[in-house]
Amino acid sequence: MKPVLNAGEFVVGLDIGGTKMMACVFDHKFKIIGRCRKKSKSGKDEKPEDRIEKIVREAITDAGEVPIRGIGVGSPGPLDPGTGVIIDTPNLGWKKFPLGQVLSDAFGVHVAVDNDVNLGTLGEWVFGKVKDCKNVVGLFPGTGIGGGIIVDGKLYHGASGSAGEVGHMTLEIDGPYCGCGKRGCFEALASRVAIASQIAALAARDDAPYILRNCGTDLGKIRSGVIAKAIDNGDKMVEGVVRKAAFYTGVAAANLINVLSPEALVLGGGLVEAMPNIYMEEVTTALKQHTMPFLLKFVRVMPAKLGDDAVAMGAAALIADRLNQK
Ligand SMILES: [Zn+2]
Repeated sequence: MKPVLNAGEFVVGLDIGGTKMMACVFDHKFKIIGRCRKKSKSGKDEKPEDRIEKIVREAITDAGEVPIRGIGVGSPGPLDPGTGVIIDTPNLGWKKFPLGQVLSDAFGVHVAVDNDVNLGTLGEWVFGKVKDCKNVVGLFPGTGIGGGIIVDGKLYHGASGSAGEVGHMTLEIDGPYCGCGKRGCFEALASRVAIASQIAALAARDDAPYILRNCGTDLGKIRSGVIAKAIDNGDKMVEGVVRKAAFYTGVAAANLINVLSPEALVLGGGLVEAMPNIYMEEVTTALKQHTMPFLLKFVRVMPAKLGDDAVAMGAAALIADRLNQK
């Protein structure tokens, strides 16, 4: 994919996350010229779609009221990327919600919708360090664990439209229960929530002194940044928990490499950004143990480059590409 906009054309990239929502206005060189970012939680009388519309309008105002040609949207799924219908997102209370149509009606432009982590992967592919590759896997361990798969230069959606649920690969058949109801999912073993609950237990029995002093045993406060600080301050057992989760991340990556043989595997998300060295070390060890040696020679494993902007940038690339096809 080589998304192209002509001089004087602008698009919006919208990232609808579980904790924050962000809209960015891009110029024809895909430079961000306006931005609006707010917490996802809306007020009592505000529908999420109204909040989203407001965020897009504020980003356009921030960009100097430029005329926009289209909106690309990264939303939590499952969703239908063909129609822009969100099938079910408990967080936002949407069921069979025609998000693409709603935004298209509100702004009078074309709208393209895809899964947020798919677009994070697309952003890293189009604008990051793996431009030259045709087969790319993105893995983003954070509060949950998401991923995206690009095969032969295209996002892979599968029969359902929702392929790429890497967080729900089974890594331990008798492992802990996952939010999805199954046992032993990658996400149940290695997401920030999984790590934080183990660390909270350590803090409760005084085995994580830095965490106990700074967060108590409050899961919500044990976020990636403070976990990294606890390790820097010598909380050894906290480091052990993170290393185990990072190793599982490597096992998941090895499974994906064995099946898909990508040229690049991009590792991003809050945990990797906060503790890149631990993650790269453990992932490298796990890959050596669990990847077919012949396949390992063909893949580059690298940290993501775009950080918080990856989804919005991928969304901008998606809508630009869609406009070119029209
Ligand atoms: Zn699961």
